[in-house]
Parts: sequence; C-alpha cells; structure tokens
Amino acid sequence: MHYTSLLEVSAGSYAQNIEFLKSRISPHTQISAVVKGNAYGHGIAQMVEIAENAGIRHFSTFSSDEARKVRAAKKQESEIMIMGMLYPEELPELIVQDIQFYVFDFYRLERAIQAAKMVGQPAQIHVEVETGFHRTGFEKGLLPQLIPVLKENREHLVLKGICTHYAGAESSVNHDRIREQINKFKEFKKILEGEKIYFERTHTACSAATLLFPETHADMVRIGIASYGFWPTQETFSLLKHTLEKENQNPLKRLITWKSEIMSFKKVAKGEFVGYGMSFCAPRDLNLAIVPIGYSHGYGRNLSNQGQVLIQGQFCPVIGTVNMNAIAVDISHLEACKPGEEVILIGNQGENEITVASFAETSHLVNYEMLSRLPSEIPRRVVD
Ligand SMILES: *Cc1c(COP(=O)(O)O)cnc(C)c1O
Repeated sequence: MHYTSLLEVSAGSYAQNIEFLKSRISPHTQISAVVKGNAYGHGIAQMVEIAENAGIRHFSTFSSDEARKVRAAKKQESEIMIMGMLYPEELPELIVQDIQFYVFDFYRLERAIQAAKMVGQPAQIHVEVETGFHRTGFEKGLLPQLIPVLKENREHLVLKGICTHYAGAESSVNHDRIREQINKFKEFKKILEGEKIYFERTHTACSAATLLFPETHADMVRIGIASYGFWPTQETFSLLKHTLEKENQNPLKRLITWKSEIMSFKKVAKGEFVGYGMSFCAPRDLNLAIVPIGYSHGYGRNLSNQGQVLIQGQFCPVIGTVNMNAIAVDISHLEACKPGEEVILIGNQGENEITVASFAETSHLVNYEMLSRLPSEIPRRVVD
C-alpha cells in the first residue's frame, strides 16, 4: 500500500544515543526506555525492536494500551512499566502478564491488592511519592496510612520500585524546586526504610535530570527525549556543553527522517494568489511543487508561509496555507523536477538539514509535542 509520506527511524543513531547516555551514568544504573506517546512519534513496535537490539530491557509507558503494544513487540525478557493510566478492570490481566505499574493513590493500591488476591499472583508495583510535581504521588502526610497497607499485604505486592518525577529539570529557573524535590524524596525513603519497607529499585530521573543532576541516577533512569536524539531544552545543552568532549560536541543524534514526494506542479504568474485566501500573492512568476502532506499528517497549519522542505538538497519555502492534505512549495530556483522526486520534511538531503527544532520553533511547538503528534498511520521504517 502507498502512503503520502514515510518516517525512517535510525537504529544506529539510537545505539549512539544510548552509548552517550551510558557514558553519563554508572554501570549499575539501568536505562528504562520511555516509549509513551507512540514512542515520541517514532512508533512503539519499531522502537521496542531498536531498543532491545541496543541492549535495553526496560520500557516505560504512560498507559495500559501502550504497555500492550510493547508486550506484543518485545522479543526479550524486557520489563514493562505503566507510569500513568490503567483501568481497574484490567488489573488482573496486567498482573498475570507481569506488567508493572505505578501506584500513586489508595484507590489504585486497594484495587491492585484485590486483583492480586483474585488471580493468586502478586502485583508488581512502583510506589510514586509526591515531592513537588503535584500531579500524582502519595503525599508525605499519607505515609501513616500507606505503611500498614504495604506491610499487611506483603504477599500480594512486589515492591518493584519507589519513584517520583521532577518538575522541569530542563530549565535552570526550576532548579531550586528540583533540589527541594531531591531532598523530599530522600526523606520519603528514610521513613519507609525505617519501617523496613524496601524497594527493588529507586528511580526518579528523566532525561534532563539524568544529564544535569547525577545525584538523581539511583538504580534506574527513565529516558525519553534524549534517546530519540534531542536535548530536553536548548538550555540543557548550554548547561552541559562544557562537559562534552571536544571532538563530539553533539553526541545526540536524531533518529527520525520524514519524507514525502512531489505529487504535481503548478506555474503561477506574478500577482496571482496561491491556495486558500490571500495569504500569499506571487511577487514574480513562480514554479511550485505540490506535496501531499498537510495538517492531517502532522504538518502544522502554522507552517503556512513559514515552513521549508528540501528538494534536490535545496531549501524550498512553503507557499500559502498548509491544507489538510497538501502544501505548495516554491521550486523556482531548482533544476527541472520530476513527479515522485523526494521531498524531505525533516532530515538531511545533500548538504542541508531540516531539524525537528527548526520545524518545531516555526510551528511554536516543543520537540516533544511535534514528535508525538506525528500520526500513527504514517508508516515507520527502521533503517541503519
Ligand atoms: C515522560 C516521562 C519521562 C521521560 O521524560 P524525558 O524528558 O522525555 O526524558 C520520565 N518519567 C516520567 C514519569 C515521564 O512521564
């Protein structure tokens, strides 16, 4: 079947990113590959394959549907951990399938214990504690209630982990808040260990915390954006730059290339308007190429008159509005083009590159959002 665009995902670049991340953590710290949001748009099935080949044996998802996709794709004895949403009625199945999950309130804890009793197998849980992110996690004041429940249900619970999440380690304006969270987390651990409640693993760090706060590494780090080849923010890179080797100033490599092809051509005379409305009036005679990609494919409407693509290694600006399924680009400066010629939306062609950052900046999205919005229908192909 044919699609109007294709996403290539580079296994080699992923392996390089993991090597770099490993160079930043101790050999005792495991990497959990965060594959929520369809693996940040890269495709869960493809990323599980790539990651397992790079030695990853732990995957973190937001929801149970994503966890099932990881389970279907994995070929190794990899662990799967749900950090967010699941439905109580799924708990028996998840427990039987050895899928681990966060417990951040009594509602889930009680249902997990019930389900464990029902299936006769303990639930593998990660207890999330509230240190300042204020989304999910047990408050410190709830420990007197939590501790007896954990003690009384030892046979129904495997305490796989204790965890928290930092509120914006990627920006230095938040760093006082992060330090406070680090201290609060230590207090939680001390209280629980004082009660002889021990967890197999401690894990708190996302990409930014892993790169900027080595003291957060513990037994495992949960890495999303950096494994896909992006700095969490430009600032993270600036803060780290002095620690990078001179010969390798950009150790994170983008995995993704997004390409389409030319569908058709149009000549427009000086003074004509192009596309819907009057946002673009040809200042001179123009040769346009029509590319079958639009906002329904994740090529944002705010790239109207803003975005650029690469054809024949040259930048070609988007002319007029981005439609639901198509854009027009100016190819007046190119040699004769043919239908079917490659169009790069994100990636390298010849000497030039369109980065996700440049793409995301023009469309006012951060990398995370731009990537995760790439529709799952676009085929993903694993390349070297
Ligand atoms: C998304 C997420 C991560 C990974 O964050 P990155 O910044 O992409 O590394 C880690 N932990 C939790 C709880 C998350 O939701």
